[in-house]
Amino acid sequence: FLFGKKRATDVAHMVWKHVVQKGDTVIDATCGNGFDTLALLNLVADESHNGYVYALDIQKDALDKTSLLLEESLSSNEKQHVKLFNICHSKMEEVVQSNAFVRLVAFNLGYLPGGDKEIITRSETTLLALEAAKRILIPGGLISIVVYVGHPGGREELEVVETFAARLSVENWICCKLQMLNRPCAPIPIFLFRR
Ligand code: SAM
Repeated sequence: FLFGKKRATDVAHMVWKHVVQKGDTVIDATCGNGFDTLALLNLVADESHNGYVYALDIQKDALDKTSLLLEESLSSNEKQHVKLFNICHSKMEEVVQSNAFVRLVAFNLGYLPGGDKEIITRSETTLLALEAAKRILIPGGLISIVVYVGHPGGREELEVVETFAARLSVENWICCKLQMLNRPCAPIPIFLFRR
C-alpha cells in the first residue's frame, strides 16, 4: 500500500482516511501552510456533516498561509468548519470545546517549509501537546505524528515522541512507526491508535 506514497505526509493522510469519519472533530496541531488542514476538512465535513478542524500554529505567518489556502480552495460555508488559532499546541485544551469528541490530533513537526527555520517545534512543548492530545482523544481515535530528523534537534524530538509512545498502556494503545530503512533521514510517520 506504500507504492506511490512518496512522502511521509501522504502516508499519514492515507491512515487518517481509515480512522476519521464525516462529522468528526479533529485537530491539526501544526497547520503550517494549511495542506493538512485542507485534507482533514475534506474528511470531516460536507453538505450534510458538521465536522470541524481546529487548526493551530504558533506562527501568525503560518495561519495567514493556511487562511489563504482555505480562501482559494473552499466555499464560505466550508470555511466555517475550520477554526484557526495562533497558539502553542500544548494549549489545545484551551480552545477545543470541552464536549468535543476529538477523533484525530495530527502533528507535522519541524519548521514551516518556505518560512523561518528558527521557528521550529521543540521537544518540551511537543511532549506537553502529546499529553494534552492523549487527554482529549476519544476511544477509536488517533494521534498522528510526522517527525523530521534532518535538522538540529530533530533526533532529540524523535526520542521524546518515541519515549512518550512506548510508555502508553498496551491495553489502551497501539503505537507504531514507519521508518524507511534505506532512507535514514526520511521523515518518520508515527501512529498512536487509541483502542
Ligand atoms: N502541516 C503543515 C502543512 O500541511 O503545511 C506543515 C507544518 S510545518 C512542518 C510545522 C509547523 O509547526 C510550522 O508552521 C511551525 O510554525 C509550527 N509550530 C512550531 N512550534 C509550534 C507549537 N509549539 N505549536 C504549534 N505550532 C508550532
